[in-house]
Amino acid sequence: MHEFSLVMSMLDLAEKAARADGARRISAIHLEIGALAGVVPEALEFAFEGARVGTMAENARLEVTYLPAIAYCATCQSEFELDNRFGIAVCPSCDTPSADLRQGRELQLAHLEVEE
Ligand SMILES: [Zn+2]
Repeated sequence: MHEFSLVMSMLDLAEKAARADGARRISAIHLEIGALAGVVPEALEFAFEGARVGTMAENARLEVTYLPAIAYCATCQSEFELDNRFGIAVCPSCDTPSADLRQGRELQLAHLEVEE
């Protein structure tokens, strides 16, 4: 399960950062996930509920910002939002396909809230 291994590595990263900061507990984890990252929100929450047990983030909130997929059209010289989750980018103004994805593949730990 993709979401479970994702959550495990995010928790690992979060615990290392919290420890380095001298914190004892993690109160919130903020993630940024792009629309093309292949993450199912319900599966992510479910994985987090299970994976956080016994970690510093046992009582932490999971806050996820989902970023829309955005591509750039060289013909129109403007950015547009993709209307699908497959990474197929076709400019809605001029119908030109674009391979220039500007946002949507993010999978990152954006911010951490810790308690001393
Ligand atoms: Zn265009």
